[in-house]
Amino acid sequence: MTHYDTIVIGGGPAGMMATISSAFHGKKTLLIEKNKRLGKKLAGTGGGRCNVTNNGSLDDLLAGIPGNGRFLYSVFSQFDNHDIINFFEDNGCALKVEDHGRMFPVTDKSRSIIACLEDKIQELGATIKTQTEVVSVKKMDDLFHVKSSDESLTSHQVVVTTGGKTYPSTGSTGFGHDLARHFKLAVTPLESAESPLLTDFNHKALQGISLDEVTLSYDKHVITHDLLFTHFGLSGPAALRMSSFVKGGEELRLDLLPQVTSDDLLGYLEKEREKSLKNALKAKLPERLADFLAQDLPEKVKQLDPKQLLDLVDKIKAMPIPVTGKMSLAKSFVTKGGVDLKEINPKTLESKKVAGLHFAGEVLDINAHTGGFNITSALCTGWVAGSQYPNSWS
Ligand SMILES: Cc1cc2nc3c(=O)[nH]c(=O)nc-3n(C[C@H](O)[C@H](O)[C@H](O)COP(=O)(O)OP(=O)(O)OC[C@H]3O[C@@H](n4cnc5c(N)ncnc54)[C@H](O)[C@@H]3O)c2cc1C
Repeated sequence: MTHYDTIVIGGGPAGMMATISSAFHGKKTLLIEKNKRLGKKLAGTGGGRCNVTNNGSLDDLLAGIPGNGRFLYSVFSQFDNHDIINFFEDNGCALKVEDHGRMFPVTDKSRSIIACLEDKIQELGATIKTQTEVVSVKKMDDLFHVKSSDESLTSHQVVVTTGGKTYPSTGSTGFGHDLARHFKLAVTPLESAESPLLTDFNHKALQGISLDEVTLSYDKHVITHDLLFTHFGLSGPAALRMSSFVKGGEELRLDLLPQVTSDDLLGYLEKEREKSLKNALKAKLPERLADFLAQDLPEKVKQLDPKQLLDLVDKIKAMPIPVTGKMSLAKSFVTKGGVDLKEINPKTLESKKVAGLHFAGEVLDINAHTGGFNITSALCTGWVAGSQYPNSWS
């Protein structure tokens, strides 16, 4: 039976970085991935360009990880977003910064990031087995017995990086949670996070319109970010972030021009009173949105009576959007819940109950906003888990 020091299960960002770290620290390492290729979910992030990390401060990172980000203090003291940036730059994959600190490869292609990670794994001499599904892991006499679809292997250390349960077609189907339960570790309830919102709204007229830096609010929650109208409702970072605070049955307010006060907007429209309403609105808003707002109103600004003018300003500054629900877990971007952090040593990411069993990435009960924060958490926890030497290793 082939023996490894470390077997990493799951070839997403957490697993690839855990493999690199493990091999870098001199361990004979195997990465097992059930898909044909590594990083299938990672490839789809950032619209296929791979939003690999975020260049913010530690405070920004913690704010971007609302689901148990504080657990990562120790991890970030060992390997953080700046180490990620240095890693890619040092290994020939230049990155660039976009809005909100989001970082992408300069090529705008996910494949550059995945190739860089894969090349590093090869360079460090670790083994990759793709199209191989791990079906069980058992521990006997200080050794893990890892059974895959085609063979049985042993190791001193196992790093579980099987991801959450969203987009199961990418391979994240919850195996790591079952494995944790098998070892009698608690798993917190799994829910959808960063979920597109279903709304009772005029979807057809607005579908496909994307807005930069608008403000979505509900109750005390106020989120200014980009937003996308879709055929079912709202997506884009503002909607995904708002999904943590709504379930369905709430009414959101959308401020289409948060940088302008209602009084200034009224003043602007009065100044443009000779213009057609559509043209006056088009100077401030995307064309289709301007058409939508101007429909059923008089053609010229000056023809609007005072109530129509005030109602229009109200609609632009506080458009009511009734939420009817959220996308299911499978269609959400991130899984909330996972391996209970009470079970895990925050310095080493090792199970407190099962020596040599480590967890990293989205399989843990950590969830973050899109914008590179989940991937940062996955890469940093992967590095830390991979860098550990189990006590039984000699
Ligand atoms: C559409 C979309 C867009 C996103 N955009 C962003 C974004 O912009 N910014 C951001 O930070 N996050 C984003 N995310 C979230 C981010 O992609 C994930 O948080 C991240 O990929 C998690 O990494 P991971 O390595 O923990 O798990 P995954 O990337 O899910 O990888 C887990 C891997 O384990 C493999 N595996 C599972 N079970 C087994 C088994 N039994 N045997 C062998 N292999 C197995 C799977 O095939 C998979 O490849 C997005 C997610 C989606 C779906």
